[in-house]
Amino acid sequence: MELLRTVAEVRSALARAPRPVGFVPTMGAFHAGHVSLFEAARRESSTVVVSLFVNPAQFGERKDLEQYPRDEARDAAMAADAGVDVLFAPRPKEMYPDGFETWIDLERLGSSLEGASRPGHFRGVATVCLKLFNIVQPDAVYFGQKDAQQVEVIRRMLRDLNVPIRLSVQPTLRDPDGLAMSSRNVRLSPAARDQALALPRALATKDPVKALAILHGLDVEYVEVAPFDPPVLAAAVRVGGVRLIDNVPMEGPVS
Ligand code: AMP
Repeated sequence: MELLRTVAEVRSALARAPRPVGFVPTMGAFHAGHVSLFEAARRESSTVVVSLFVNPAQFGERKDLEQYPRDEARDAAMAADAGVDVLFAPRPKEMYPDGFETWIDLERLGSSLEGASRPGHFRGVATVCLKLFNIVQPDAVYFGQKDAQQVEVIRRMLRDLNVPIRLSVQPTLRDPDGLAMSSRNVRLSPAARDQALALPRALATKDPVKALAILHGLDVEYVEVAPFDPPVLAAAVRVGGVRLIDNVPMEGPVS
């Protein structure tokens, strides 16, 4: 596996790479959910590219950005084990050089639910993803259903801007206790993790009223049926200083 830092290095490595190219954008601190995306890309691609970039533009709170878990050496080893060919881990200046001022804004979708709780979040997500798509020029991109609104944002952006890339969405991986895997889970104390288990239990009801009752006592930002593809019951809660999001499709099994 090649670990690359610059756009120029990625372009030159991929110029000769066999197609199709599958691409997985990430912020690192890998867990089995990330690995499931690498494996899906591996099954369907001749070349697998993963990006590891904790994107400052999608964080509102400075503290959240600073506290975001980082362990590049461990991530690189996990990506190599999963058969990733290229790991692109740029420095912030490589992605946002001085004078950067072009942004992708989804007017409505970007300001509802997660976007209402985190103003500017999806502007940062959409912009960095389009930049990464232009750098890597993949045939397919792989995203997790765990971030259902992010999937919707990417799908809409690809359509609205006529970007010729296939979007593959993979199911949410959960720990045996039901908690959706997330890089942020490492920041939960055992007691907070116990409380956080109310989130998957609440969503499994697929009923916003019942879900809210189960979440009683937690700091709930929203629990709503979101009209995505597929429609999901989505929620965001804060537990022990950690913000967690999760969702389940309204139809079919809970994944
Ligand atoms: P992140 O590093 O958190 O930005 O996530 C990178 C990708 O992994 C995104 O497409 C996420 O939706 C996906 N992902 C995160 N958690 C999970 C999970 N528990 N199961 C499946 N995919 C996930």
